[in-house]
Amino acid sequence: MENTPIIQQGRCTCGQSSFSVDGTPLIRFICHCRICQDLYQKPFADVVIFPEKAVKLQTTESVEFKKFRAPPAVNRGICKSCKKPVLGLMSVAPFTRFAFVPAMNLADLTQLPEAVGHVFYHRHVQEMYDGLPKVSGYVSSQLFLSQKIFKSLIQYNFSA
Ligand SMILES: [Zn+2]
Ligand SMILES: [Zn+2]
Repeated sequence: MENTPIIQQGRCTCGQSSFSVDGTPLIRFICHCRICQDLYQKPFADVVIFPEKAVKLQTTESVEFKKFRAPPAVNRGICKSCKKPVLGLMSVAPFTRFAFVPAMNLADLTQLPEAVGHVFYHRHVQEMYDGLPKVSGYVSSQLFLSQKIFKSLIQYNFSA
């Protein structure tokens, strides 16, 4: 299925922190890592990756950015009010930056592509039965995501 451009408003759980999305999502994936489990207070995170330029924070003063792992790590924006993730940013090369948007923060999930699979599944606390690929191990999970992102970048002729 083709990923289609999305124009939407997004917000954190409490609504204090908001952002806009205008662009084509690269991939959507389900993350079972410990950091996501802790931050979301859920068994897993449903995340959509966009080119960074497609996403704009509208309330920077209510968002605090933190890295929870040594580079290359996602710089995670947490709402100061509800302490839940707003969106994350990551540089993979000098001119290639991605935004990681929690699907639950978007208004309309019907526009989103299907997830490519489950990653960091060795940390899973809830069994998944959706038929999507399940990838265990830190390196394997990173590699799986990189390959999917790269494929998408080529398909949508991404330029920074
Ligand atoms: Zn995670
Ligand atoms: Zn909030």
